[in-house]
Amino acid sequence: MNNIIDGKAIAAQLREKIAADTAELKAQGTTPGLAVVLVGEDPASRVYVSMKEKACAQAGIFSDEHKLPAETTEAQLLALIDELNQDQRIDGILVQLPLPGHIDENKVLEAISPNKDVDGFHPYNVGRLATGSPLFQPCTPYGVMKMLEVSGVDLTGKEVVIVGRSNIVGKPVALMCLAKHATVTICHSRTKDLPEQVRRADVVIAAVGRPEMIKGDWIKEGAVVIDVGVNRVGEKKLVGDVEFASAKERASAITPVPGGVGPMTITMLLYNTVESAKRRASAQ
Ligand code: NDP
Repeated sequence: MNNIIDGKAIAAQLREKIAADTAELKAQGTTPGLAVVLVGEDPASRVYVSMKEKACAQAGIFSDEHKLPAETTEAQLLALIDELNQDQRIDGILVQLPLPGHIDENKVLEAISPNKDVDGFHPYNVGRLATGSPLFQPCTPYGVMKMLEVSGVDLTGKEVVIVGRSNIVGKPVALMCLAKHATVTICHSRTKDLPEQVRRADVVIAAVGRPEMIKGDWIKEGAVVIDVGVNRVGEKKLVGDVEFASAKERASAITPVPGGVGPMTITMLLYNTVESAKRRASAQ
């Protein structure tokens, strides 16, 4: 039974559409632009930033890179963000997290113009999402929703159980599922009897960060399983938060790790940037 939700294929298809939209915008005189700001030398952040730059280039999006030394002050970073907020070529501003300890992350995220907040982390955009009129939606949960949509999963009236309540995944994906008329349960480290909660779910969304913590026999027969978790085990192997092999036997559809949610995150960043450029073009 092929019940795998192929994130790589869904992302590739969406990126083709993004590249086509970008070409059309360019033909009309608007080049979508994304500013990517990296402070310091964190190796994982460097990898993410270079993946984002490459993805922009492939889609034809202008990418404006700012690689700043670790000793950059908060004031210097805020001054750069102010400049980017004013820059007419820039439709999206992404500040790679985590920032060095001497910089207040919330202050920086709140300095980004909500109209260029392609990560969707600004409190204004969080509020728009919560009140049901989103402007920018955070990329990973938005990617999860696109995958469900493309896979033909209608959430109306479904029991969705989300494991994890972070600001970047758990909470926003809960709001997005609610907007699609699901009945939503959010679980976390203090939830009592997690297996029983998961067993009720028509759709399970796992965003915990613990290798294969959610066991296959917790999955209801025919449920849809979306595994956001990325956990390194040993030198090279990546696994999700769900025990994939046994969960796959019971699920009607399931995302693998790697090759599931992962490829969608950057794709949705490009998507948000192009949507922002479309708004700029129509305002001109
Ligand atoms: P956080 O560490 O911010 O949040 C983890 C959540 O899991 C918390 O709400 C925590 O509960 C909960 N949790 C921890 N242990 C348990 C437990 N034993 N039982 C139930 N709940 C538990 O993680 P993120 O949301 O940032 O990321 C989650 C996972 O998704 C990670 O593996 C991360 O690598 C991955 N990820 C993948 C992305 C992608 O592009 N594919 C993007 C972003 C994240 P509490 O709040 O009580 O502490």
